[in-house]
Amino acid sequence: MSNIKEIFASMVFNDAVMREKLPKDTYKSLIKTIEDGKELDITVANVVANAMKDWAIEKGATHYTHWFQPMTGITAEKHDSFITPVGSNDVIMEFSGKELIKGEPDASSFPSGGLRATFEARGYTAWDPTSFAFIKDNTLCIPTAFCSYGGEALDKKTPLLRSMRAVSEQAVRVLRLFGSKTSQVVSTVGAEQEYFIIDKKLFDKRKDLIITGRTLFGAKPPKGQEMDDHYFGSIKPRVKAFMAELDEELWKLGILAKTEHNEAAPAQHELAPIYGSTNLATDHNQLTMETMKNVAARHGLVCLLHEKPFEGVNGSGKHNNWSIATSEGVNLLEPGETPAENAQFLLFLCAVIAAVDDFQDLLRISVASAGNDHRLGANEAPPAIMSMFLGDELTAILDSIEQGTAYDPHTESVMEIGADVLPKFAKDTTDRNRTSPFAFTGNKFEFRSVGSAHSISGPNLTLNTIVAEELSRIADKLEAAVDSGEDFNKAVGKLIRDIYKQHKRIIFNGNNYSDEWIEEAKRRGLLNLRTTPDALPYFVSEKNIAMYTKHKVFTEMEMHSRDEIHMESYCKVMNIEALTMLDMAKKQVVPAVMKYIRALSETAVAAKSIGIPADVECELAAKLSSLAGELHDSIGALEFAVNESHKYTDSYDLMFFIRDEIIPTMNSVRAAADELETMVGEEYWPFPTYDALLFNI
Ligand code: ADP
Ligand code: MG
Repeated sequence: MSNIKEIFASMVFNDAVMREKLPKDTYKSLIKTIEDGKELDITVANVVANAMKDWAIEKGATHYTHWFQPMTGITAEKHDSFITPVGSNDVIMEFSGKELIKGEPDASSFPSGGLRATFEARGYTAWDPTSFAFIKDNTLCIPTAFCSYGGEALDKKTPLLRSMRAVSEQAVRVLRLFGSKTSQVVSTVGAEQEYFIIDKKLFDKRKDLIITGRTLFGAKPPKGQEMDDHYFGSIKPRVKAFMAELDEELWKLGILAKTEHNEAAPAQHELAPIYGSTNLATDHNQLTMETMKNVAARHGLVCLLHEKPFEGVNGSGKHNNWSIATSEGVNLLEPGETPAENAQFLLFLCAVIAAVDDFQDLLRISVASAGNDHRLGANEAPPAIMSMFLGDELTAILDSIEQGTAYDPHTESVMEIGADVLPKFAKDTTDRNRTSPFAFTGNKFEFRSVGSAHSISGPNLTLNTIVAEELSRIADKLEAAVDSGEDFNKAVGKLIRDIYKQHKRIIFNGNNYSDEWIEEAKRRGLLNLRTTPDALPYFVSEKNIAMYTKHKVFTEMEMHSRDEIHMESYCKVMNIEALTMLDMAKKQVVPAVMKYIRALSETAVAAKSIGIPADVECELAAKLSSLAGELHDSIGALEFAVNESHKYTDSYDLMFFIRDEIIPTMNSVRAAADELETMVGEEYWPFPTYDALLFNI
């Protein structure tokens, strides 16, 4: 491996490069524009663009693109070369400030959820200078926001940036009251990415993996993950080579890939980066997913990012570690050393507690997808019920504050907000519970319900905004208390008590996988939105529209458009899965079974002709034939249901039809086919089975 120091961020036009390549004045104006969040002046942009182009060409780039994150959840780019003709025979390499700041891709081929009907089909991309330009595949990529001409967000970056502004504004209001001079607060994220690696030759033989990213058939292999021998196990050489190259590619892009290890399931792995601002972490996670796929291909491997590639084997998620810090780098969710810091910590903690409780629905929706429905609540990932883990010690402290009792029975002293410090609690006692969807891990929260294939923009813009909302309520109350001359510490203490009392039902430190929790959560009145169709209708409730529009993260129209896209995308994914399943069942599974029955029958005839009774052959053929009959019936039922589903014009109704009719029928098709797989001769089975896929690298 080459020198890490040399390659790290070598493909990024970052602050150090800008400082070196830009005239001093230009650099200063650019930084000021970034800090103020203003539009970039065209004369400055021209100079920046030119320097960027020269730097990129030096690194071998020939093209540039505005790199954006439309609602498809993946990134989009449209490449243009730097070439500009001069005269009839010559070209020069050009890149103007205008081309840097603004692009005009045709918006009509991207999901707009109805916004297109009201607005022009054209959209534009605008450089987000808080995210550095980088070079990928000889192309200078400029991270951009993607909006319609009316200014409506058509992407995942715009609302994320708006939510960062919202949480900053409200957190600063609260911090002011504590005497802080901070002018900006940044939400930070470290997204641990899980994925599967399988052999490309086997992948290519499975239409379901190729088309849907997951297996729609597959009997349980003789060995799964029951031996627990994969987690942190030694990494196989082919995978190791892949990881080494992946790290190098990510480092070039300035992505701080830090740890890589095997995960719980066979063939499953995880990559954890070092955290950064939510915006950058989101860009980086998109790039990480893309790079994983590309590098795997170079090694004859395929990287599966689907939440549930294999039934009966743990699925993949993304642990989204989230916190907020001042721009000076002070983590606001870090318990403090002084009484004042502690009061502030507890108040920010309470804001998160209230946010998760008040907006359980939005958090649940932010991780809802057809893929993640296989995972949440399947005793391998958190349940669909949102709750939070604080650990016994922190919970005990909050309980004692609420009740005005001693948190430590030995000292009998009652904690006074603003006068006492929190007792030190060991960090690892905070991270024991792996079953909680939302766990406090000492100085940050880990949101564990996020799906492996998701863009982390949605979960983080939700977190940022709901916490902004609670902070704004807190700031309103505290500002009023201060104005009316109340004692500040007393007011903070009362607020912490009130919030905790009102929202403590959301705290659960026990086993989230247990049936008792489902019952208990119901008693507490918590939502249990088991599937995507159950969750999505909550998005555009009055409460949620009021919250998002208040903080200017979404307009009401944008919310309706996103709701429509979310429902549509669920329906489309399920429709594709159902059609792929039918295709494989009819054209591959049934013919394979017939072929085997025929072989058995021919053997039976041959055996009988020489006087052998052939009972086994006959019995087996009869059993297979009867099971094939069940499969055939289920295929018929699924075909009927799919045809029925095509009559629906409204995504809302369609998604419930899918939940209630299509999915159960798909399950019957699979059950029959999987049972057949266990009986049909290996050489007859039309595609690689689970043992080959999972253990063959
Ligand atoms: P684990 O015990 O889960 O490995 P770590 O503390 O190593 O926990 O962190 C896991 C992830 O959380 C890493 O990606 C790390 O960069 C990230 N992380 C740590 N501190 C913060 C923070 N303040 N904000 C956001 N993410 C953070
Ligand atoms: Mg972790």
